[in-house]
Amino acid sequence: MWFLNKNSAALVASLIVGSALSVPGFAQDDPGGPILITNVNVFDGINEELIENATVVIDGNLISEISTEDLAVAGARVIDGGGRTMIPGLIDAHWHTMLSFWPVGKVLSSDIVTLSFAAANEHEKTLLRGFTTVRDAGGAAIPIARAVDAGLIDGPRMYPSGPVIGQTAGHGDWRNPLNIPEEKDQPLDYQQRSGQTLIADGVPEVMKRTREVLRMGASQVKAMAGGGVNSLYDPIDVTQYTFEEAKALCDVAATWNTYVMIHANTDAAIRQWVEAGAKSVEHGFFIEDETARLMAEKGVWWSMQAMEATGEDAFVFDNEASNKKFVELVAGIDKVIELSKKHGVNIAWGSDLQFDPTLLPKQGKFFASCPNGSRRTKR
Ligand SMILES: [Zn+2]
Repeated sequence: MWFLNKNSAALVASLIVGSALSVPGFAQDDPGGPILITNVNVFDGINEELIENATVVIDGNLISEISTEDLAVAGARVIDGGGRTMIPGLIDAHWHTMLSFWPVGKVLSSDIVTLSFAAANEHEKTLLRGFTTVRDAGGAAIPIARAVDAGLIDGPRMYPSGPVIGQTAGHGDWRNPLNIPEEKDQPLDYQQRSGQTLIADGVPEVMKRTREVLRMGASQVKAMAGGGVNSLYDPIDVTQYTFEEAKALCDVAATWNTYVMIHANTDAAIRQWVEAGAKSVEHGFFIEDETARLMAEKGVWWSMQAMEATGEDAFVFDNEASNKKFVELVAGIDKVIELSKKHGVNIAWGSDLQFDPTLLPKQGKFFASCPNGSRRTKR
């Protein structure tokens, strides 16, 4: 893919031929008039063959013509593509707008305003990497989504989850361990007050918090359904929430005509939540055959990451416990790809890059390697 300047990057979004795709943030900077991009090869996302040496006409936020003939458009701004290749805008189905760019300690010790400015800055870079849509998998990203929609900042359009919802001692419990146990009527900690995460226990509280997250503007709900890598106190193999709590959360989302995406890795956690009504399983590295079959039967999406345990693309955490958990997880990747193919489970791709700025430029590389596991099998 290629980008000539800040505005032309957004044009990649318009290359989904035949769809009326608007580009938030672009129209505001658009000087007006048609744009002619010459000397490009076009991958249109529909046909496998490239359209070579093409000319592309853009009117407003839409591509109006792709031609291999020489075109002249009166009053058009002409951009020489230099023989590069245009592709449709990319989608990252598991992105963390607020958590990707700083180490975890800095994220947790930063005030939300400073963090939001940094996130807005990184959001533009995400667009310039070719990602025109992200599904945010948790964090205080709803204001960033609104700023994009309002044309205040440039960045991918976002489907935000808002604060993750998790149980006490779960993957979403980011409190200082010295503040446990909680005293009665104790105020929420800063991470909950600022919209990064929300702790909810028991059916009534789970229902209330889910409705609050939807009221904030979440397009889907992110629930913590099992143990995590970067949380230090919950082993990977724990199932988070009881079936009744999980079902309550999924039922509320359904009344809002949306769905729940779950952070889960073990077979037990995934199975409980799929039976409770979750529609998108994030990660799922330790799934077993029967649960993968159930996901296919229920039309549940599987959002996975082709991660490496070692080498230049490996995630490195700042503590040994997380590194050990990560290596255990990644060992499951070949099996999950095999099971997803065997049962025909719907697959979404998401990078889940977090707390490591050195990985961010590789967002596209992770994308290119994920869907069929080619990156692993070639090594
Ligand atoms: Zn995530």
